[in-house]
Amino acid sequence: MTLSAPASSPAVLPDAAALRADFPILGERVNGERLVYLDSGATSQKPQAVIDAEVDFLTRANSAVHRGAHTLAAEATELFEDARTTVAGFVGAPAEQLVWTSGATAGLNLVAYAIGNASVGRGAPQSARFALRAGDEIVVTESEHHANLIPWQELAARTGAVLRHIPVHDDGTLDMDAAAAVIGERTRVVAFTHVSNVLGIVNPVDELVALARGVGAVTVLDACQSAPHLPLDLPALGVDLAVFSGHKMLGPYGIGGLYGRADVLEALPPFLTGGSMITTVTLDEASYLPPPQRFEAGTQPVSQAIGLAAAVRYLDGVGMDAVHAHEKALEARMGAGLRSIPGIRLLGDASTGSATGGGGSATGQRAERVGLWAFDVEGVHAHDVGQFLDARGVAVRVGHHCAQPLHRRFGLTASVRASTALYNTADDVDVFLDALSGVRTFFG
Ligand code: PLP
Repeated sequence: MTLSAPASSPAVLPDAAALRADFPILGERVNGERLVYLDSGATSQKPQAVIDAEVDFLTRANSAVHRGAHTLAAEATELFEDARTTVAGFVGAPAEQLVWTSGATAGLNLVAYAIGNASVGRGAPQSARFALRAGDEIVVTESEHHANLIPWQELAARTGAVLRHIPVHDDGTLDMDAAAAVIGERTRVVAFTHVSNVLGIVNPVDELVALARGVGAVTVLDACQSAPHLPLDLPALGVDLAVFSGHKMLGPYGIGGLYGRADVLEALPPFLTGGSMITTVTLDEASYLPPPQRFEAGTQPVSQAIGLAAAVRYLDGVGMDAVHAHEKALEARMGAGLRSIPGIRLLGDASTGSATGGGGSATGQRAERVGLWAFDVEGVHAHDVGQFLDARGVAVRVGHHCAQPLHRRFGLTASVRASTALYNTADDVDVFLDALSGVRTFFG
């Protein structure tokens, strides 16, 4: 398998065939064809090292963590906390600043509910810092996944706060002039995605953080679509809180991370309460452990945490700079191929800087992207496109991708999305493009 890329692309991964062999599922055939998996934006495939790490833990060391005086409990606790150190390190943070969650959706709900608890005067000593009053504002972007939208709608409804949004330009980039106008004295929270799961564009985190800091607002970053594809240093990005999702970054289902600045986690009240997050309990009240345990009520996803640590060790072994360069080359190849097929309309194409309508273009420069393109095929429903490709072994995602407002912004109810991971090759992209070029003729 060759990994040729456009001449201007940076170097690609040195040994793609060996890397692909680490992912057993990539050897599967689908509908009699070689599997071309271009749905990693929804969930990634797992290397054998991740599968082995979970099986090994369950086979040899399974036990409840943080309790019990027996040998297995001690071993399980050590593996679990080592996993925390490894995964926190992957995003540039110390272990005590990483809270385990069941995924990004759970992490975002945790934050929104914790802020809601602060608003009714419950929780940690300095939690009043987060309290929202009627008329305070929560700011999101028009391109959020529902997971980073609905929890804020609910929080606004509970507190009387107002939800505002930063629009996107026709080319998919954020309207930063509007951001500067929307983020103001009443803004208390700015929640935004690092990379949109529909547009694939890397948002200007530093500019948004600067605007939020200028008015004393808390920043919440959804790093689901960046963590698997870019080198990520959350403390350096300056965000207060950030979430990511294990199953999208080669890890197991049911595990994710919530990163927080130490002072922010310290001041934030808990969301879920119960066992494992307390120091003392009477029949009338309880006092809580410091972070991260304050946010980890109940039995934790231990084997999943250990699997996620194996996943980030795998990613680190390849090197996130190399992963990013490789996927950039695939993205450029895919983007160029998609633009050359008649009847395809790309969502979030800032390649030429030209706007497609009244919304304008941001900078006229090519936006930084990950390997993800969503598009509409003129005259063919997204689901039909998906089935047509599936019959040829190509797995893509179709629908609204949990981003209905963004689709509405582009006048669509659904799109087709092809998304890469480090295990994809130029050949995968070419098979996909070749199959796609036959869609409109087929549906005539
Ligand atoms: N945010 C973004 C940008 C996503 O792409 C997704 C998953 O599709 C989520 C949040 C939800 O993540 P999880 O599956 O971990 O709840």
